[in-house]
Amino acid sequence: MATTRQSKSKHSLSAGKNTDDLDASANNQKPGDECGTCSVVVGANNKALSCEICDKWYHIKCESIPESVYNFMLHDEAGKQLIWHCSYCQRGCVKVYKHMKIIVADQLELKTKQNVLQEEKKTVRECITQEIGAMKDIEARETAELTPEETRKQDITTFMQIVNICGAPIQEQDVLDCRRLGQTVTDKNKHRPVLIKLVSEEKKRNLFVRLGAWRKYQQEHRGPEEITAGKPLINTDHDMTQEQRKDRRSLVEEAKNLNAKLPVDVKTRWTVRGSPWNMRVLKVILVPPNPNHQ
Ligand SMILES: [Zn+2]
Ligand SMILES: [Zn+2]
Repeated sequence: MATTRQSKSKHSLSAGKNTDDLDASANNQKPGDECGTCSVVVGANNKALSCEICDKWYHIKCESIPESVYNFMLHDEAGKQLIWHCSYCQRGCVKVYKHMKIIVADQLELKTKQNVLQEEKKTVRECITQEIGAMKDIEARETAELTPEETRKQDITTFMQIVNICGAPIQEQDVLDCRRLGQTVTDKNKHRPVLIKLVSEEKKRNLFVRLGAWRKYQQEHRGPEEITAGKPLINTDHDMTQEQRKDRRSLVEEAKNLNAKLPVDVKTRWTVRGSPWNMRVLKVILVPPNPNHQ
């Protein structure tokens, strides 16, 4: 708001009278009320304006303000709306304004960068959340405990898959017993052996003579990555005592030595056959895989 001498001072301003009277009477002088330009005290009767920024008084003549402008500013309404700056402050204002423009531009740039960063942060957070969700899902599936009955069903299903791949004449009802041996393992890469008891020794023999098909199937269907990823090969074996295992190891060694002496192209092999209590090294013709389970 523009402050004229009239509104600022207690003394009334007689506009139009003594307009050029810069030698104000000593009666109206107030300390600190010197004109900011000429340093002469601004008298009560002088036409002068106060700068909104530096608060100094200026004779309108010293600041080259036309009287018409001064008179206009005397009106209450105009005085409320208009702000007047002295020429010194005006120059300062321009500088400040220039700096402000730079600051505003800088701020705008920072805000843009901040928005970009915030967007990136959001994306990263979303990715992490998804990843964690996926990991939790995997963990939940891996740690899901099967009931003993579920485990049994799963083991029988797996066994029947092996039976079918080998083409052995065995039905699910031929399985008399199915249970896991040993203690519960917490290591996911270790597996407990499953004992399968079949209805007859003959059924078992029917499967064991065809197990080559199962070994071939595993070699064809499981790459080394899957094996290292913890998916184990399923080994099939007789349920043997430690003594029987030892016996077999020596028989296997014997068969190996005999095979080493065989010609390369021969279709027979020496192998260990028979039930654990009746194992022997036999010369066998290699059984071709069942054509229905290639
Ligand atoms: Zn002056
Ligand atoms: Zn000023």
